[in-house]
Amino acid sequence: MKRNILTPEHEEFRASVREFIAKEVEPQYRDWELRGHPPRDFYRRLGEVGILGMWVPEEYGGGGATSYSYAAVLMEEIAAAGVGFGCAIPHSTLILAYLTAFATEDQKARWLPGVASGDIVLAIAMTEPGTGSDLANVSTSARLADDGSHYVLDGAKTFISGGSVADLVLVVCRTAPRDPDNRRAGLSILAVETSSTGFSVGRRLEKIGLHANDLVELTFDDVVVPAANRLGDEGRAFEYLSHNLAQERLSIALTASAAAQAAIRHTAEYVTDRTVFGNPLSSFQNTKFSLAGSAAVTQAMVTMTDRALELYDAKELTPADAAMTKLFCTEQAGSVIDACLQLHGGYGYIIEYPIARLYADIRVARIYGGTSEVMKLIIAKSLGL
Ligand SMILES: Cc1cc2nc3c(=O)[nH]c(=O)nc-3n(C[C@H](O)[C@H](O)[C@H](O)COP(=O)(O)OP(=O)(O)OC[C@H]3O[C@@H](n4cnc5c(N)ncnc54)[C@H](O)[C@@H]3O)c2cc1C
Repeated sequence: MKRNILTPEHEEFRASVREFIAKEVEPQYRDWELRGHPPRDFYRRLGEVGILGMWVPEEYGGGGATSYSYAAVLMEEIAAAGVGFGCAIPHSTLILAYLTAFATEDQKARWLPGVASGDIVLAIAMTEPGTGSDLANVSTSARLADDGSHYVLDGAKTFISGGSVADLVLVVCRTAPRDPDNRRAGLSILAVETSSTGFSVGRRLEKIGLHANDLVELTFDDVVVPAANRLGDEGRAFEYLSHNLAQERLSIALTASAAAQAAIRHTAEYVTDRTVFGNPLSSFQNTKFSLAGSAAVTQAMVTMTDRALELYDAKELTPADAAMTKLFCTEQAGSVIDACLQLHGGYGYIIEYPIARLYADIRVARIYGGTSEVMKLIIAKSLGL
């Protein structure tokens, strides 16, 4: 179906991303997967070509893009090539949004130029060993010094994407004791420089997919964080997270839709080339029906994400809209990619076939950024339940 959100500028951007991936990512991607991460310089390269800072305002050295629809093109090209950009996608599409929305002018001037150039890589640390879905239960704590000049941060986080390469980590922490009447109160976001004494990177966690994205544990042991590094007001982190998680969920839905589109293309090609029982695999009715059904569902994902992007750009995407979009796209992408893998037979299980990588990489989309069950809770709440 013709897509209204795509303009000639989007297609120009698509062509440049495609060329960049072909020249600078594909030839080295296997190495990155084996090392668990792209080299640090790759972020600077993404900065130079304008991808990393495309949503950073121009006055801070970025591209000043105002529409988030370019993210769809970016995800589609990454999925089509079967690669990843390490942790550059969360950096540019999710974490930056906390700085543009909640940082002071002084903080923006300090951080945004580096965020656009790749000299400052961002990570966000919400999840802890004891709490993931239930964010209000965070126990990492920060105590404000008597003179108000700094916080002292203690605690541990886990599952932090890009945590081992990040220069600045946005840490969700408790700055006031738990309030039994309001579990969401008392949480703040501190921007922690990873060069700080007491900050340490723990275990690198081995994953079933996304092999070129590092995922680590972090520990904070009496880390001194200047009060000037607090993002927004003290105690309002939950509100900020609720605001920004809608964008994160849309971004994950875009990844899922892009992965399903890529799976259909790879599979249509594969079944045309493969012969079984003396006939092309594509000639069997089961193959046609399976791919046709998957294509229809994938079109629904594209339509839904395109509409969500329009609403997001108009600042009208509600948390429930974002939850529905993530729930639908990630669950359906799982089914579509599974059906596509089945049509590959044994080759679908072999990692050198793109469908195998898509299968392994997309599984986590139903978990991170809020699980499918958490999405259902948000949607149910919007129904008054
Ligand atoms: C690859 C990867 C990258 C990640 N990157 C980051 C990152 O950069 N920063 C970060 O902070 N976190 C990150 N995470 C963490 C991720 O967001 C959490 O794993 C996720 O929110 C789920 O939390 P949990 O793992 O503690 O699961 P739990 O909260 O323990 O959930 C376990 C199960 O219980 C279900 N459940 C929970 N609550 C309810 C409920 N009320 N009703 C019904 N069912 C429920 C869940 O849906 C799930 O099925 C990442 C995780 C992965 C795997």
